[in-house]
Amino acid sequence: MEYKKNDIIVIKIEDMGTDGEGIGKIGGFPFFVKDAVIGDTVEAKVTKVKKSYGYARLEKVLTPSSFRVTPKCRFHRQCGGCQLQTLSYEKQLEFKQNKVRNHLMRIGGFSEAEIDRVTEPIFGMEERFHYRNKAQFPIGTDKEGNTVAGFYAGRTHNIIANTDCALGAPENKEILEAVLSYMKEYHVKAYDETTGEGLIRHVLIRKGFASGELMVCLVINGQKLPAADKLVSLLRKIENMTSVSYSINEKNTNVIMGETIVPLWGGASIRDTIGDVTFFISPLSFYQVNPVQTKKLYGLAVEYAGLTGKETVWDLYCGIGTISLFMARSAKQVYGVEIVPQAIEDAKANAALNHIDNAAFFVGKAEEVLPAFYEKKSREGAEDAMLHPDVIVVDPPRKGCDEKCLATMLKMRPERIVYVSCDSATLARDLKILCAGGYELKRVRAVDQFPQTVHVESVCLLSKLHSDHHIEVE
Ligand code: SAH
Repeated sequence: MEYKKNDIIVIKIEDMGTDGEGIGKIGGFPFFVKDAVIGDTVEAKVTKVKKSYGYARLEKVLTPSSFRVTPKCRFHRQCGGCQLQTLSYEKQLEFKQNKVRNHLMRIGGFSEAEIDRVTEPIFGMEERFHYRNKAQFPIGTDKEGNTVAGFYAGRTHNIIANTDCALGAPENKEILEAVLSYMKEYHVKAYDETTGEGLIRHVLIRKGFASGELMVCLVINGQKLPAADKLVSLLRKIENMTSVSYSINEKNTNVIMGETIVPLWGGASIRDTIGDVTFFISPLSFYQVNPVQTKKLYGLAVEYAGLTGKETVWDLYCGIGTISLFMARSAKQVYGVEIVPQAIEDAKANAALNHIDNAAFFVGKAEEVLPAFYEKKSREGAEDAMLHPDVIVVDPPRKGCDEKCLATMLKMRPERIVYVSCDSATLARDLKILCAGGYELKRVRAVDQFPQTVHVESVCLLSKLHSDHHIEVE
């Protein structure tokens, strides 16, 4: 049978795609059905038909899946940020575990038996909502002309008003209401990306879950914030407000934050504590969004690193030095590399704050700093621990490690490589390269840093194959 756009189909959902969509077949022809849950039988509307598969959108659940649960947020379908909110938590964990396994097999080329041998059970989370310590709400104008804060309706730039995200900190709502009332009273306009006019683009909110400290940073399309003292006095009324600033972003891009931060009131950063390490976090620095699970994640990274106090460790993509400082407690020396200069400033301040003096940090791209350093040291004929560390930890952004970085890691030949990843597809791609270069995958464990979403974090341990197994690269 031929299908076309807007056809209504009835379909039983038997699988799930990597973006959380339901997958079913009619007469052998597969459909990807957005918002349908594995086990559902649904009525769906066809949105696109390709040669050998089609896309459809849930219209009506005819027989609900036993894994279907009532969503907490009424906007979950429009927003698209919580792709799995209608799936039971146990099934969410199974989905994530399978996602990592499948990527490692399909992209990484590992056999099922190997994956079974190295995989440890995923770390789930008790509190599955309100776990995020960071939110970036876009500000705009709705159809009635009201200034609103909310979220972009899935894949568009239309803003739907919602100040009460089910994943965010409870204080977000009060903060956004303060910002909106300031804008109304002082006639400060929301930014309009089609015309490039208006001032307020986004509100960044961060909360230190351990300290309770709150940070607000307004992203503006201009150099100055009018009546800034009025905004500050409204925000200061909120308990635990610690830092108020704005960021200048006059470019017409999807990048949220501008490069400059102008402080308005309070400190330039807030603090948070994970385990026994305290961190300063500034607006432009990366910091894991789920501190409860981050403690498990870093604990695992330290365990996999197998530290005894004698080791030299490189921590590539180190952000504000979180993993570096966790490791420094049980290593001889740690070197961190990170591209964002403000994050490195935070990392140095964090080392001092925690009285850690065996961690040093370098600003730059991992794929430039590491090779440049390696070439220089090798030319000098040095044979030191920095050149041949015991452990290299990497925690890259979603696009994974650059090939130059991987090649240098292979030349440095550490005993162990700990790979922390937020994207299992690029993780699998990189592990394939590292294993071809003389490493063996020993342990893999996923950590659910992002309940309700399809995202999954994982930690892997690779260990060096010794000479009889050694495979020359280059
Ligand atoms: N390990 C840290 C940060 C991980 S996020 C933590 O757990 O908090 C990834 C980090 O890599 C970000 O801080 C980002 O700014 C940085 N980054 C992105 N590209 C990079 C590159 N090419 N070289 C070095 N760091 C990079």
